Amino acid sequence: MNVAPNTLRKLSELQEAGLVPDNQREALERVAAQYAVAITPAMVGLIDPADPSGPIARQFVPNGAELHVQPAETADPIGDDAHSPIRGIVHRYPDRVLLKLTHLCAVYCRFCFRREMIGPGEMPLTPGELDAALSYIAGHPEIWEVVLTGGDPLVLSPRRLRAVVSRLALIDHVKIIRVHTRVPVADPARITPALVRGLKARGKATYVVLHVNHARELTAAAREACALIIDAGIPMLSQSVLLTGVNDDPQTLGALMRALVECRIKPYYLHHGDLAPGTSHLRTTIERGQELMRALRGRVSGLCQPTYVLDIPGGHGKSPIGPNYLTADADGRNRIEDYNGATHRYPPTR
Ligand code: SF4
Repeated sequence: MNVAPNTLRKLSELQEAGLVPDNQREALERVAAQYAVAITPAMVGLIDPADPSGPIARQFVPNGAELHVQPAETADPIGDDAHSPIRGIVHRYPDRVLLKLTHLCAVYCRFCFRREMIGPGEMPLTPGELDAALSYIAGHPEIWEVVLTGGDPLVLSPRRLRAVVSRLALIDHVKIIRVHTRVPVADPARITPALVRGLKARGKATYVVLHVNHARELTAAAREACALIIDAGIPMLSQSVLLTGVNDDPQTLGALMRALVECRIKPYYLHHGDLAPGTSHLRTTIERGQELMRALRGRVSGLCQPTYVLDIPGGHGKSPIGPNYLTADADGRNRIEDYNGATHRYPPTR
């Protein structure tokens, strides 16, 4: 992995950059000993040291609150392990698998749902394990889609990515290759024509899903990186995590979704924060998430509407969590709510 030069990884470096105060050093050392830290220059450039609780700092700068683990929080909040037949594969839904190529990321998000499984301290997938993972996919004809994830697969070299994608291309029943990444915003210089070529395979459709949580992350360089991907014929979708103090107000969330659509990226998922250890200070309530989704509906274009989802702990998969606009009145007749909150009767349908 070629990391962005000058990525901040040590607390001393964060301190030198003015991102952590002296008086929190001891608590933050304990946080950093437990969970990986990396902030790329692209993200450091978006942090105002005078505003340590700003939306970019909150996502990447370690916080003493991470030491407080709630009873409901677990090391594997979305239940990857329960569906991992072999190392590197998560087979939760019948027609698709996750292929976790690397445990490394360009940046480490403080709310990461896989925070106990990623970072430089974790064992990489060996060549033998990768062979076994690809054999597993080849041996399961029901697998239509392979999601390359990690960590962040786009921290791998174009050569390694091309090698994996070429091997997937040999598996007839795999039709879709989906790449989950934060790199186009976190380290846009990594998105080169060679890397983009490496993601494409004849006869397969590649999709790139960008993890982005605030419009500010879509810098000019990030937008160019995304355009390089899209202009190569690879559609892009987005996934965002609803985070307290980052995007939990209608204006910020609406601005993010609009900025994505302007970049030709279709908002796909808005994730409710997972029950990852030490992340409660960044999680909202579900009711707040539903209020925000109501605020988006009708006020920004339909193109800008993500689906608000929750990963059910224990590995039971994602479910949309509303809000629900259709209810029944006392007589069992349909009532439908419009975007202003007024309700209207709707006749029975058949
Ligand atoms: S980029 Fe994804 S996998 Fe990596 S730390 Fe952030 S949320 Fe976790």
